[in-house]
Amino acid sequence: MSRDNGAPTPVPVRAAGSVIDADVIVVGAGLAGLVAAAQAYAAGRRVAVLDQEPAASAGGQAHWSFGGLFLVDSPEQRRLGVRDSAGLALADWMSSAAFDRSEDTLAMDWAAAYVDFAAGEKRAWLASLGVKLFPLVQWAERGGYGPDGHGNTVPRFHVVWGTGPALVAPFLAKLREGEASGRVT
Ligand SMILES: Cc1cc2nc3c(=O)[nH]c(=O)nc-3n(C[C@H](O)[C@H](O)[C@H](O)COP(=O)(O)OP(=O)(O)OC[C@H]3O[C@@H](n4cnc5c(N)ncnc54)[C@H](O)[C@@H]3O)c2cc1C
Repeated sequence: MSRDNGAPTPVPVRAAGSVIDADVIVVGAGLAGLVAAAQAYAAGRRVAVLDQEPAASAGGQAHWSFGGLFLVDSPEQRRLGVRDSAGLALADWMSSAAFDRSEDTLAMDWAAAYVDFAAGEKRAWLASLGVKLFPLVQWAERGGYGPDGHGNTVPRFHVVWGTGPALVAPFLAKLREGEASGRVT
């Protein structure tokens, strides 16, 4: 359902005995949920974030993670002499995924879109949020050593300066801001 202005109809959420009005409900306060919620808040929506864990666990697995980011043809790679491209990254992805069913079409489209993001705006977008990178690119999930083998054929694992918590921080900060303004619960 949507309002006349195209915005979704607010959904009442009952939490801890009170009712919350929200345009968007995000279930799961891991990194995926925090990014979605922060983007919805930044777009002017009132957001409710629900999680089975207490608020202190916000960030989910990403809080405990190494914060290694998949980036393609980055300045960090080029400085180290790593020659990467969106085409090579997509070939690596396809080799690893071995999509072979008709219903894999959407997954293939998603992979192509994500590689474009990782070779394009992802690094600048994260930098604009204050996310900094360790200058040495690591080679996780390296798998095989040729474009037809499994895994990353070149180093692509860009570690966030401050690891997982530093990646979660800007999204959590945005939601805390929204909480203070009464638009995020
Ligand atoms: C130690 C470690 C190191 C890692 N290092 C890296 C790395 O360097 N690079 C990398 O790319 N990836 C890494 N990963 C993987 C990466 O952290 C995860 O893939 C990513 O954080 C998942 O985010 P998510 O939001 O999808 O899920 P999650 O972080 O799992 O969040 C899901 C949230 O949903 C909540 N939830 C689940 N079910 C319900 C329910 N029914 N009702 C309410 N809430 C619910 C959970 O409590 C949780 O808070 C690492 C993971 C671990 C554990």
